[in-house]
Amino acid sequence: MPYLTQLAAVARRTGYPVTECPGWKTRGHGPQPAVQGVVCHHTAGWNDMHVVRDGRPGLEGPLSQIWLRRDGRIFIVAAGRCWHNAPSTSVYHQNSSSIGIEAENNGSAPWPEAQLDSYQRLCAELCKEFGLTAARVKGHKEVNRQKVDPHSISMDGFRAQVARLMTGAGPIPGKAGPHEEDDDVPEIVSLGAGQDQDVPAGGELAVRWHTEYTDDADDHGAEGVAVLADGTRWAMCDALVKLGGLEPGDEVDLAWTRYSRDGKELLDDPWRLTVHADPDGRVEQSVPGQFGLGKDNQLRLRVINPGTRPAKLEKVTMAKVALFRR
Ligand SMILES: [Zn+2]
Repeated sequence: MPYLTQLAAVARRTGYPVTECPGWKTRGHGPQPAVQGVVCHHTAGWNDMHVVRDGRPGLEGPLSQIWLRRDGRIFIVAAGRCWHNAPSTSVYHQNSSSIGIEAENNGSAPWPEAQLDSYQRLCAELCKEFGLTAARVKGHKEVNRQKVDPHSISMDGFRAQVARLMTGAGPIPGKAGPHEEDDDVPEIVSLGAGQDQDVPAGGELAVRWHTEYTDDADDHGAEGVAVLADGTRWAMCDALVKLGGLEPGDEVDLAWTRYSRDGKELLDDPWRLTVHADPDGRVEQSVPGQFGLGKDNQLRLRVINPGTRPAKLEKVTMAKVALFRR
C-alpha cells in the first residue's frame, strides 16, 4: 500500500473542517504497508500538533497520521507509516497495519461534544474507505497494555456510534458525550421531526421540528421549521430523512435551504439531492450541508415532491446542526 494521499478527502467527508499540514503527502517512516485498523489516542497535551508531526525526545515523528483538534477540526499530518502503537497486542493495530489518530486532550479534561462527534465520524469514514468494520476501531488502551488513552471514553459506546454513522444514520441522540462551554466549541442543535408529516403531491414540505434534544439553541420560528442563529455562524448540518408512501422509483428532492430571516424569500439551496424511492416505496437518505448563517437569514430542511402521489415524512426524521462561531 502506498502513501495514503486520500486521507484529506476522506476526512472532509465528515463535514468537519480539515487542515492539510504542509508536506503531509510524503511524510512518514516510509509508506504505509497496510490499513487493517484504526487506533484512537489522546495526546496528553494541548496545541501539540507539532509533537505529532515532529516527534518527541526518543521518538521521531510523525507519531500519527492525524491530529484532531478539540474543536473538531481535523489536521492531516502524514500519509506514510507513523510511530503510534508499539508494541501492539493486535496484529491489526500495529504501526504497519493501522492508522493512528491523536486527539488533542491533556488526559483529564472533558471531551468537547464536537471533538467526539468529529472523532467518530472520522473513524466511520476511515472504516468505509479501507473496508473495515467498526470493530477494527480500537482505543490505544485496548491494544497496548501500558496505555490509558483515550481517557474516559467507553470504546464499546464509541464503536456503536461509528457503526451507526457508517450506515449513514446520525449519531444516537444525546450520546455524543459531554458538552464543554468554550468559544471554540460549536453549539449543537439536535432536531427531531417527532410527528409524521405530509408532503403533498406536486408540492413541498418544510420539516417541522417537534423535538429538540438540546435546549441551548434558539427557537425555530413561529412555525417550528427554521434553524436560527443569534449571530454570524458557520452551520454544518446533517439530516437523516425517512419518507414513506411512495411507489418504487418515485423521485423527490431533499434540500437544506436558506431563507430570508422572515421566512418569506427563498435565498438558495445549493445542498440539494435528488433521490428515488426504493422497492418498498421508501426513502432513507442522509442530507449534508454547510452554510453561513446570520441574523438576516434562516435555515430549513425541505422535501420537494414533484410526483402525483403524496408522501409521508416519518417522525423519526432527525437532523443535527453544529453552529461554529466564525
Ligand atoms: Zn496513545
